[in-house]
Amino acid sequence: PHASKLLVLCTVSSGGLVAYSESQSDIVSPPSVDINQSEPRKKRVVVLGTGWAGTSFLKDLDASMYDVQVVSPLNYFAFTPLLPSVTCGTVEARSIVEPVRNIIKKRKGEIQFWEAECIKLDAKNKQVICRSNINNNLVGNGEFHLEYDYLVMAVGAQVNTFNTPGVLENCYFLKEVEDAQKIRRGVIDCFEKAILPGLTEEERRTNLHFVIVGGGPTGVEFAAELHDYFQEDLVNLYPSVKDLVKITLIQSGDHILNMFDERISSFAEQKFTRDGIDVQTGCRVVSVSDKEISMKMKSKGEVFSIPHGLVVWSTGVGTRPVVKDFMEQIGQGKRRILATDEWLRVKGCEDVYAIGDCATIDQRKIMEDIASIFEAADVDKSGTLTIKEFKDVMDDIIIRYPQVELYLKNQHLGDVTDLFKDSEGNYRPEVDIEQFKLALSHVDSQTKNLPATAQVAAQQGTYLSRCFNRRNECKNNPEGPRRFRGRGHHQFLPFQYKHFGQFAPLGGEQAAAELPGDWVSMGHSTQWLWYSVYASKQVSWRTRVLVVSDWTRRFIFGRDSSGI
Ligand code: FAD
Repeated sequence: PHASKLLVLCTVSSGGLVAYSESQSDIVSPPSVDINQSEPRKKRVVVLGTGWAGTSFLKDLDASMYDVQVVSPLNYFAFTPLLPSVTCGTVEARSIVEPVRNIIKKRKGEIQFWEAECIKLDAKNKQVICRSNINNNLVGNGEFHLEYDYLVMAVGAQVNTFNTPGVLENCYFLKEVEDAQKIRRGVIDCFEKAILPGLTEEERRTNLHFVIVGGGPTGVEFAAELHDYFQEDLVNLYPSVKDLVKITLIQSGDHILNMFDERISSFAEQKFTRDGIDVQTGCRVVSVSDKEISMKMKSKGEVFSIPHGLVVWSTGVGTRPVVKDFMEQIGQGKRRILATDEWLRVKGCEDVYAIGDCATIDQRKIMEDIASIFEAADVDKSGTLTIKEFKDVMDDIIIRYPQVELYLKNQHLGDVTDLFKDSEGNYRPEVDIEQFKLALSHVDSQTKNLPATAQVAAQQGTYLSRCFNRRNECKNNPEGPRRFRGRGHHQFLPFQYKHFGQFAPLGGEQAAAELPGDWVSMGHSTQWLWYSVYASKQVSWRTRVLVVSDWTRRFIFGRDSSGI
């Protein structure tokens, strides 16, 4: 009975798209024969997600080689680094999004896009089950499944509340474009409420108390944006309550921006103190109600509560339920985050790749590889390591694992170089190999996973598309010119992350930047660097023009305070 409706979503190819209705008997199976039998069937690549990772995969993929099908609940790509600017109207939401169809129409070959959410991955049968979230009755409950030859998971992560009571119900988040728009409305509502007649001064103060939980780059940038918004725009529009506004930034660690160089952390803390932003470090939020936020001081163990008008929760990310379920299926149920190898292949699952925030490269393997590098270097024989051998081994390790170098540079260089010093601090020519391995295992246990950033996600997408583009070439010529150092005989070099530095806008036309080569820059000139980098990184000329004109509009007319 549903056949005529279901045809809307059926593609005619083997391993095709099948629409579901409420009962399994309504499934329309794809025909078993290709329409065009003269051409061999192209392998189907299903891509889940159109964020940083998914989009950069699609941008570089030679789609003429594959049957490419993309599934995402959002039909646009959002430039997330500018989301904090959307919360205060510095930049409009429309200016930072690019429709997916604009992106894919420019690609070589055809790419199909389905606006739907993947609700289940079925690794055994190599298919994904999706549900359209468009509110219509075209296809029963809107579910369909897609079979794949290769699956690229790029579904990102979701907000992490750490199961803190009341957070989901009473906090705003800053993850999606819609979240930023809600905050924009929420901030203006707090001001409009605070000036209503009949309120006590205490009630007005409470309405104008903005609390941000999380002192990472997003929380800090939002605090800075909010502060600028008050100082430059709202102070003139709501003069009667201008002295009652307060911003509190809560951070569980000892410093804000603690993933940056400590000069940047302390510059940011000093600037916020001068600006009157209350920075509470060493505090863990234990619950949030509609009126109060309760936290525990780590040093004293004491719990206290403060009233709030609006809370923004920005404390890192967690795994999406669909990925969790998939991890259970493939024996990764005990892990916190989906693991891949260095070629971004999901461990324990054929033909599935995971890129961006939804996965991480498994670190345990790194230590095994480091041991094999030692063996290959053949330095164990004497039981000691000369400085030259040390350098060679380290070079080898760092080529494969740039994050080890990052870690050594940032924090624990001493752990390894100290091994070369005697008790008086003088360098000695060689070191005990066991001691060296011990120090490296410490490095391994401390080496952080790659950060969950757009930079990592975009580089992984580009890397993977290049592997896909070269797949046929490598199949025809398996000995290939680029075998990786004889170990593993893999056709492709493993993924290597290149860190191009990171920014932290701090408000008042000032920013801080940590650039490659341990170069730190802070102040007004860095803000101009920030403007130029973010303008150049836009995905299209359309968004570039929109963003730059929003910045110009803000300089000339100020921000819009309607909250729309
Ligand atoms: P996302 O970009 O989150 O994309 C996930 C995609 O998957 C989306 O299209 C989503 O709709 C889709 N999806 C979700 N669920 C499903 C499903 N079930 N089925 C199919 N599709 C699904 N990083 C930086 O490097 N620099 C910055 O300045 C920076 N600033 C940031 C500011 C903010 C406010 C935020 C929130 C993040 C910021 N980041 C920044 C981090 C960066 O945005 C993320 O690391 C990056 O978006 C990760 O890319 P991704 O493709 O893995 O995930």
